[in-house]
This record gives sequence, C-alpha cells and structure tokens, in this order.
Amino acid sequence: MTSEPKTLPTEARFIPKRLEEVRKRALENPEEFFAEIARELEWFKTWDKVLDDSNPPFYRWFVGGLINASYNAVDRHLKRGLRNKAAIIWEGEPGDTRVLTYYQLYREVNRFAAVLENLGLRKGDTIAFYLPMIPELPIFMLAAARLGITFTVVFSGFSAKALAERINDAKAKVLVTADGGFRRGKVIELKKIADEALEMAPSVETVIVVKNVTARGAKIDVPLTEGRDYWLHNLLPAHAKVDPVPVESTHPLFILYTSGTTGKPKGVVHSTGGYLVWVYATMKWVFDVKPDDVMFCTADIGWITGHSYVVFGPLLHGITTVMYEGAPDYPAPDRWWQIVEKYGVTIFYTAPTAIRMLMRYGEEWVKKHDLSTLRILGTVGEPINPEAWKWYYTVVGGERCPIVDTWWQTETGGIMISPAPGIQLVPLKPGSATYPLPGVDADVVCEDGSPCPPGQRGYLVIKRPWPGMLMTLWGDPERYVRTYWQRFSKPEEGKWIYYPADYAMKDEDGYFWILGRADEVIKVAGHRLGTAEIESALVSHPAVAEAAVVGKPDPVKGEVPVAFVVLRQGYTPSEELRHELVEHVRKTLGPIAVPAAIFFVEKLPKTRSGKIMRRVIKAVLLGKTPGDLTTLEDEASLDEIRRALEEFK
Ligand code: ATP
Ligand code: MG
Repeated sequence: MTSEPKTLPTEARFIPKRLEEVRKRALENPEEFFAEIARELEWFKTWDKVLDDSNPPFYRWFVGGLINASYNAVDRHLKRGLRNKAAIIWEGEPGDTRVLTYYQLYREVNRFAAVLENLGLRKGDTIAFYLPMIPELPIFMLAAARLGITFTVVFSGFSAKALAERINDAKAKVLVTADGGFRRGKVIELKKIADEALEMAPSVETVIVVKNVTARGAKIDVPLTEGRDYWLHNLLPAHAKVDPVPVESTHPLFILYTSGTTGKPKGVVHSTGGYLVWVYATMKWVFDVKPDDVMFCTADIGWITGHSYVVFGPLLHGITTVMYEGAPDYPAPDRWWQIVEKYGVTIFYTAPTAIRMLMRYGEEWVKKHDLSTLRILGTVGEPINPEAWKWYYTVVGGERCPIVDTWWQTETGGIMISPAPGIQLVPLKPGSATYPLPGVDADVVCEDGSPCPPGQRGYLVIKRPWPGMLMTLWGDPERYVRTYWQRFSKPEEGKWIYYPADYAMKDEDGYFWILGRADEVIKVAGHRLGTAEIESALVSHPAVAEAAVVGKPDPVKGEVPVAFVVLRQGYTPSEELRHELVEHVRKTLGPIAVPAAIFFVEKLPKTRSGKIMRRVIKAVLLGKTPGDLTTLEDEASLDEIRRALEEFK
C-alpha cells in the first residue's frame, strides 16, 4: 500500500484514482470483472454465463458452474502448502483453547460429513444448527456444504419459540445442538431449549447433540429421546473421506433469518457460487488479506457477519480465523484485547454497540495490552457514531490502523459500501462508510426515485445485481419482490432497483453516510432526520455513552424527536444535564433536531446481535404493544424504558 493520508481534513480534495479505475472497470464490464475473480476459486465446471438476468429480480450468478464451498474453504489449501497452518483458533469463555490446522479441519469436516451422509441426508435437504460458538459449528457448516445440504444456523441465544419458527420455516429434517453453552460463567442448557422447540417443530426426525459443557466440567443432565437423539461422538467414525459434491452455483448454500430489528425475520437464501465469490472478493478489498493474517471477527456465527467473516471469508483465503465463545466484558472488559494480544490478531472486526460499551469502561482496559499486531479495524451493524469511531481509531488502533466502516446486510451476503484498503485507502471520515465497492452501483434517491443532489438525505438504493445478493426469501418469492424491489423499480421500463430500506446521504466528495433505517426516519416540521444524526450528536457529549432517538407524533410539528440516553460511568442524571444535552444538540445540529424530551436509562432494548430496537421503544412510548420480541436481548430493558417514562410524568 502506498502512503495515502489516513484521516481526513475534509477540505482535502483527494482523488482515489486506483479505486475509481477498478470501480469503473467493474461497472463497465461486470461479467468479465467478476469472472476474473471467480477464477481464483476452484470450480468443478466453469459457468456458461456469469450473470443470468433473464428473470429479474431473480438474478442468477455463474449459471452452469459447478462448485463446492467446503472444497474451496478447506481441501483447496492442502495443495497449497497450508496443511499445518492454523485454520481455526478457538478460545472458550473459561479460557480453554483449541487449534485446528487446515489438515485437522479437513479431517473433521470429512468425519462430520460422514455422520450426515449416514443419516441419509443428501443434496436438497435442509439442516438446522443451534450451537454455541464452538468449532463444531463451522465444521458442521462445512460438512453440510460438502454434501450440498442447505443449512440454517440459529443463534444459540434464541428462545425455543424463535428456534421452532426457524426450523419450521426451513423445514429442517435434522437439528444439531449441544448439551449447553457457557455464557458469563453460567451454563445455558441448549438441549433443553431445543427439546421445547421440537415439540413445536415436527419436521425434525433426528437430533445430534454435541457434548460441550458436560465435557468441560459442567454438571447438568442431558435428556435424550430414544430413537431421535444421538450424541455426536457416538456417530462419528474414527476417520472418513467424503467426496465434496459439485453443486450448481445457484444451489442454496444456506438460509439465514435476518436479525429482526424491524419485524418478522425473513429467511434470506444465499447461493453457493455468487456468495462465495462475493465474500472472497470483499475480504481482499476491505481487509486487504495477507497470507499471515489472523482475523478476529467478534460476531456470533448465528449472524451473517459470522457466516461471511468468521467462517467463509477467512477460510476461503486460507488465513487463520479466531473464534471466541464468550462475552467481550467477561470476566473483565479486556477479554477481547487479551485475545488480540495472545494470538497476534491483525484484522479485528466488531460492531458499534460493542465499541460503545467498551468505551464506557474506559481506555485503561485497552492500554494494558500490546495491540501492535493490529493492522485493520472494522465495524458493522449500525451507523458508528463519530465519537465511537475516534475512540476505536485512537485507543484501539493507536492511530495506525484504518477503520473500515462496512455497510451491508444479511441480504447482500458480504460488504457493499466500505473503505477498500486492499485496492486503495481513501481518506477516512468518521461515520462515513466512504464508497461503494467495485460492482456495487449504489446511489441515494429521493421519494420519487430521482437521484438526490450531494448533501441531501434520501434512500439508499443498489441499481444493479451483485454476486453476493440473496436469491429469494425461503418459500416466499413474492415477499422477496415486495420487500426489496417494489419501492423504486420500474419493471415496465425494465428497471430493477434494490431497496435496502436504509436512509442515507452522499456528500460533495461522493462519500456515503448511512443515517439510520428508512422506517425510523423522523419527520419534524417537513424536515427529515435520520436517527443516527441525532444519536451521534448526543453521543458526542462527554456524558453520553449511548442514545436512541425515536419520533413521537406532535400536533404542530408532525413529529418530534424523543431521546433515551445511557450515561457514561461517573455521570448521574439531572435536570441540568438534560438541559445541557438539549443545548448540545441544538449547537451541533440546529433547533429542528432538538429532542422534545430526554430520558435517562440504564440500558436500551437491543436485538441479540446488539442493535438498538427503536420500534420497540417507540411502541412503549406510544403505549402500544411492542410486536415481535423474539430477537429482543433483555426484556428488562423494556421495563427500564417504562420506568423512565413514568418518572418523567
Ligand atoms: P431486519 O431486516 O430483520 O429488520 P436487520 O436489518 O437488523 O434486521 P441485518 O441484515 O443484520 O438485519 O442488518 C442490516 C442492517 O444493519 C442494514 O440495513 C443497516 O440498517 C444496518 N447497518 C449495517 N452495517 C451498517 C453500517 N456500517 N452503517 C450503518 N448501518 C449499518
Ligand atoms: Mg434488514
């Protein structure tokens, strides 16, 4: 990489020539561009056509091609001299560790695949995984992929009801779970939750149980149902060779239910070929992968970030991926930094919610560790408040590491808008995801679909297909069209526009700023404001650790912003502070954005993936029922909102 400036004096007019050139090439000739990247993976048969767009919006990539995900993530590297390289470094919450070299991973994937094959599972079947962050989870994913079995991973923090809903929707025949998982020193008895789910999920004929916590000293009983449930270790052959099944590029690799921040989860279906190519490419561009990299993506594999950047991304590149089982602040707030130091992590990827939490504990926890191996820091999941960005950049990255703020979704398969140090690092602006990646034709449009001028807020859209895109929603193609393609497409003109439902702005330099979710935009006296704008203004005050802003109907202004604020350690709620925060927002954003009320709370309602659930806050504020709560992390957070509202009365 050359010596481009790392941070940005906004007035600097920097022209990212190399990036522009690559982006231009990708848009001018996408088929050739993506074929070139796809050839870096191994195909059993090359595709006949790179992009089949004959039936929009059901786009199909690399049609006619035959490929296998497990072969590309594992077997391929054995021939490249990587047999003895660590593929997975796993660290358990209690501090136990396991390392699997590429050869060991290969052996395990084969043994696990034999188990699935012996159960009679074949290409076209679906399987559900309800497992904690243990190596058996990626091994099973790769084993299923080896046979063309479509898998769905259900986050192990989900309840029985949420698990049953997902199993039923995916019609899985087999469920793999564990006796339990560790969380904050306690044992979560997963098998018992799974049993409860199975009473509501009749499609499951067989349950495989991984001996996890009981093998590590926990004393719990694990009830097995005769004829249905089997311990994994009783099914595993001592050794096995299972040939990878060549599947069509369009064969569904997995189904993943979105985190459900805004409502009923959607079963996003990802292809094999297009998905792998996209994940492979984005790893190169965004994380600038080098052979010696050790990547620590903190997301649970139950989310898309874990699928793409704990499992497939690093393994497709033959680098080392670090998997950690526990919470970032257990037993102490430096747990992650300990891991970074211990394994010499070079690429670290996490979410704004975690950064804000760790920031709240203070920088001494970070400073205790040698983090000099870090090279690139990433964030994903929500807009990152500039304040949190700066802390991450300075305290964690020692002002050495670029922050890649990556915008994408479960639906997009991989990163879409982000700095791309693997191509050319552009000057960074805290809070902006910078430019779309090559092949991503993103724009910001107004209500009527016309392009928004620079600086004007509007809706993010993607104007053409990309390899990592979802193929459909499982069993509901009509909902797929309605949810993502109806808003701005003009089928009669042959124009298909993907709508991610995010609110955004492009600035004078063409940088993209994600301002929040489209359905959470606040309309004050004819002005529209993204939730992220007001929240970031609040978080830029030294007293504020975290903030959630929602719109409340107002007879005069249409809507007014109302804020819920979590204070940093050492600050206490007061009338004075409330007043100060109001003034602070007024100064930062102007009178329009000033919250009509500010409530102090101890915590905010979040999804289990750590995103603020504004729709739930809004429902409580308006005295309505909050709707689907399956992904809500902590019910007590709702009482907290109610308490704050009550006190204010
Ligand atoms: P659901 O679609 O079920 O409501 P969800 O949208 O939270 O759930 P995900 O696919 O995990 O499910 O999240 C994608 C969303 O997260 C994006 O649409 C966007 O709103 C937000 N997001 C992700 N990355 C960023 C980022 N870097 N900056 C701003 N927002 C982001
Ligand atoms: Mg979404």
